Amino acid sequence: MKSDFEIAVFEGDGIGPEIMKPTLDLLDRVTRRHQISLRFNSVPAGAAHYAKTGESLPTASLDVAREADAILLSAMGLPDVRYDDGTEISPQIDLRKELNLFAGVRPVTLAENQNSPIRLAAGKQVDFVLIRESTEGLFWSQGRGEVTKDEARETLVITRETSEKLFRFAFGLAKRRKAAGRGRGNVTCVDKANVFRAFAFFRGLFDEEAARHPDLTSDHAYVDAMALWMVQKPWALDVLVTENMFGDILSDLGAGLMGGLGLAPSGDIGESHAVFQPCHGSAPDIAGQGIANPHAMILSAAMMLDWLGQQNDMPAASNAGEELRQAVDRSLLNVPGLTRDLGGESSTDEAGHVVANLLEGKAA
Ligand code: ATP
Repeated sequence: MKSDFEIAVFEGDGIGPEIMKPTLDLLDRVTRRHQISLRFNSVPAGAAHYAKTGESLPTASLDVAREADAILLSAMGLPDVRYDDGTEISPQIDLRKELNLFAGVRPVTLAENQNSPIRLAAGKQVDFVLIRESTEGLFWSQGRGEVTKDEARETLVITRETSEKLFRFAFGLAKRRKAAGRGRGNVTCVDKANVFRAFAFFRGLFDEEAARHPDLTSDHAYVDAMALWMVQKPWALDVLVTENMFGDILSDLGAGLMGGLGLAPSGDIGESHAVFQPCHGSAPDIAGQGIANPHAMILSAAMMLDWLGQQNDMPAASNAGEELRQAVDRSLLNVPGLTRDLGGESSTDEAGHVVANLLEGKAA
């Protein structure tokens, strides 16, 4: 059985290298305990690289990503470095398109005593997953919009091919979560089918897939209502699946529920490739100070291990991912281990050490 994995690493811009360092150290520690070996292959890309060379995602870096078993990415883009048309450098979006990573997976979890703008009633826990379609929808129009003096147009595209893959993925995830005791096996299609034909089409395809899963349940919600429910009753949600732009917005709402962007991980997953990265950007306002929160990056790495386990039928990798996730969860209860964005005073490296100690069964 394969136990050696090649991981393409994009350290990126801003706080990217700072949060990647403790993450790679933790990956080394946790995989060693499970007799798995990861080989990290660090490749250049991003805004700083573009400023230096005129290339944002070199072909050689893309080739390494294509050949790798999985891709780990911290954050890319800097507000002052832009293409000639004024848009920001975002190789992470190029990677989604190049590798056809249609499912943007954003878990939202909140334990009873975790810091959050909402207060959980005793015994309640939040544990749901938002799946954002990541290759089409309104983002299909990126770079294609038409703007005249009097009018601007952008086009939203929903295809049968991508939607079918997306919904198959969503129901597969609900099934796995249910088997692991982490969800009730329900998938909600989040759309605006009451107003737009494209979303009625999206919902119709969702219902076709739902009919193939009598062991699971499904329902629908309009995106505006879902924004309300994510705040009012997030504990009632399980797997949500939605269009690209709606998912972009709702996933930041999910990050807000968790107490901030510094805690929100993600995976951009296709049929044979996947990129794991935090939901946040390169945070140039705090870059270079060693105070960035590494948790979202570490949790993204834990998702990567889980995905490697599933892809390669290797439970040890998924177990390693779960151990890492639980160590981060426990570290959140340790104020000394928290960075400033979460109300603590730890540096990035100190926050990483607390997770490492918890992982190895030592006191935080
Ligand atoms: P993008 O558009 O690339 O996603 P953004 O404009 O949304 O980026 P971010 O870079 O995510 O912006 O930063 C938003 C705010 O959150 C900033 O104030 C930043 O310092 C803060 N922030 C983001 N990530 C972290 C982190 N890991 N630790 C601490 N603060 C963070």
